[in-house]
Amino acid sequence: MANIGYIQVVRHCNHFCGFCSNPTTPYVHTFETMKVLVDDLKQRDYFGVILTGGEPSLHPELPRIARYASDQGLHVRMITNGWRLADEDFAREMAEAGLKLVHVSVYSVRPDVEARLRGVPDTLERAFAAVANANKYGIEVNINCVINQLNADHLDEGIRYWMEHHPYIKHFVWNNLDPSMGRAEVNQDQYTPRLADFEVSLHRAMRLLHTSGRTFRVEKVPLCYMTEFAWASTETRKIVKGEERIVHFLDAKQTVRQTDWEHIYAPACSSCSLRQICGGLFDRGNAYDPAELYPVFVSRDAVVEAIIHDPRDPSYAHRTLAEWQKDFDVRVAESLAAREGTPRASLEDMQPQDGPAVGRVTDQGIRLFEAKRRSEGKKAAELGVTMEKVDAPPVEPKS
Ligand code: SF4
Repeated sequence: MANIGYIQVVRHCNHFCGFCSNPTTPYVHTFETMKVLVDDLKQRDYFGVILTGGEPSLHPELPRIARYASDQGLHVRMITNGWRLADEDFAREMAEAGLKLVHVSVYSVRPDVEARLRGVPDTLERAFAAVANANKYGIEVNINCVINQLNADHLDEGIRYWMEHHPYIKHFVWNNLDPSMGRAEVNQDQYTPRLADFEVSLHRAMRLLHTSGRTFRVEKVPLCYMTEFAWASTETRKIVKGEERIVHFLDAKQTVRQTDWEHIYAPACSSCSLRQICGGLFDRGNAYDPAELYPVFVSRDAVVEAIIHDPRDPSYAHRTLAEWQKDFDVRVAESLAAREGTPRASLEDMQPQDGPAVGRVTDQGIRLFEAKRRSEGKKAAELGVTMEKVDAPPVEPKS
């Protein structure tokens, strides 16, 4: 299995997205505390690690931890807003440190929309420079995009731009907005899209990419809103292949190990041909409407075969449909037994008791957090955005 773990190396950022689901906390990482998490992923035989945040490039020891992870044999990736990678020396340093792939996050190629979503001017030009720098130094580039109310109607416009101006980019990732955490939770009215808002533009975007031979993944979008490209759903691929994902959150959640990719379903889902392999409707945060779901009647096996026979993703060991079905039935039975009648796993169920400590809460971390919160509070007022709720007093992670 091609499991990939996430390490949040910082939680502060130099942008101010109104829907940020992982804003500043008082938790901080040193090289040593990050090393423990890399070792944990290595021990679990993970394929790779994604360094994320906050904005991970703001951690002064990012090149060092990238080098360490690479030396452990992990495929090292980073999700970034691109601000620092626009500096060519930094791009070269990260390439030399072993960074293999970078997900540059861009929400819209319309400058006014991007500036509104980022809360900071001139980010788009720097993201374009970041992409070019990464490519120049041999780091594979993917584009990440959070689907939200403001970009929902022109996702395909972005794809046309990237294909024309940066044709070397071969893979794209959309994440529908997670309205359950951070500023996204308290600003749902401004940013959470309806599924119908993006259905057409997402379909156009996926078709453009597919026709051009590029690949893509889509998360938190039910299959009835991407039926033709159901094989590209992150949840569906995880369900079909039985993959897990670990996120080392630099906050009170600490480590979350997700093995259950099902969200919630509407009564309409019971007659849907894709029900067994669909992640359903993302319900954490209660911002999406189950009434938007509708059953589809297409071949489930065709979707499964597209995934298990994908020549660009040879991570699944069982290669025939019959072998997959056997493996899948065993996994479904095990998962039902593990749940013991509980309909779905809660967040607490996903937090392993024996997980490693994630970061530290230090006096300096608390001071930085308080200063950042004051400055971001002013920015939020200017932008008309509500500040995220502050968790209960931070708990020092167990060592
Ligand atoms: S109707 Fe339900 S099971 Fe079917 S594709 Fe939509 S969300 Fe998935």
